Amino acid sequence: MPLPLERDQIQHLTEELEMIIAAHLAWFKQLNRALVCGSEPPRADLLPDAHLRSPFGQWYYSREPHPLSDHGVYQELGAIQQAMHAAARMALQELGDGRRPETDLYDQCIDLSLRLNTRLRNLQLDIIGELLTTDPLTGCSTRRGMLGKLREEQERAARIQRPCCVCLMDFDRFKRINDELGHPAGDAVLRQGMRFATGVLRKYDSLYRYGGEEFLICLPGTPIKDAAQVVERIRQGLSQLPIRLPAGEVLTVTASFGLAEMSPRRSVEETIANADLALLQAKENGRNRVEIWMG
Ligand code: GH3
Ligand code: MG
Ligand code: MG
Repeated sequence: MPLPLERDQIQHLTEELEMIIAAHLAWFKQLNRALVCGSEPPRADLLPDAHLRSPFGQWYYSREPHPLSDHGVYQELGAIQQAMHAAARMALQELGDGRRPETDLYDQCIDLSLRLNTRLRNLQLDIIGELLTTDPLTGCSTRRGMLGKLREEQERAARIQRPCCVCLMDFDRFKRINDELGHPAGDAVLRQGMRFATGVLRKYDSLYRYGGEEFLICLPGTPIKDAAQVVERIRQGLSQLPIRLPAGEVLTVTASFGLAEMSPRRSVEETIANADLALLQAKENGRNRVEIWMG
């Protein structure tokens, strides 16, 4: 499961990209002035490593690895920017030699510059989207877009003929923790408990905050027996996890789990309802348990 970006990191990256977009547009304007009005181009744009010298280049190549370096759009940016500088250099050289650049070359400069601008904006929107789909308390995904993602998993499971399971997890007697120890203690339980659960899950599993102290786990490519083992590891580990409260005390908590397997014959909503029935069973059978919906 990819770790979501921290909220302040998202804020920082959004601002960083805004500055890069502004710097790129300023560069684009200057290039156009040189190509159209014949004004003096910046000397750096005529050099073979112009792509490293521009504000974008200094940002893009300065840090390794960038927090966004795994993002597909981020990798694409480098290739576009390099091609853009190569085209701009050729066009400026033509001018320097007293010729007008070919229309195709000019078009290439414009198209690549605009494409870079669009990709930077797309990246920024993706990052802002991350803000909307990440729960600030636990770092889990929010419910926004959850059903769509689960439907995709269901379709994938049917296509590759592998099972996919859904589990609802609900902290036990959570109201009591809030009432007896205060809301910040409840928050600490959710934060540390879900950090632990995230650590147990595998790369392709996903974890959503479904409601207040209720979470949904999606386990793709996993038969129900194996899913039960994964969930059992979370249950057991959580029950032994020392949770540090803001006031300094240490507490342990438990949670109950209801597991159901997806089926092409059932809607995702029905599978979630089935997992909810199993969860109810787990509560009725004494809590701190995993129950499987058997149909
Ligand atoms: P059960 O074992 O049956 O699940 O009992 P419970 O007390 O956990 O269930 P109940 O639904 O009665 O209470 C859930 C409580 O969770 C009520 C609500 O105030 C609290 N809660 C929901 N979201 C948050 C949150 O973000 N932070 C904190 N501290 N509490 C929350
Ligand atoms: Mg509860
Ligand atoms: Mg609940």
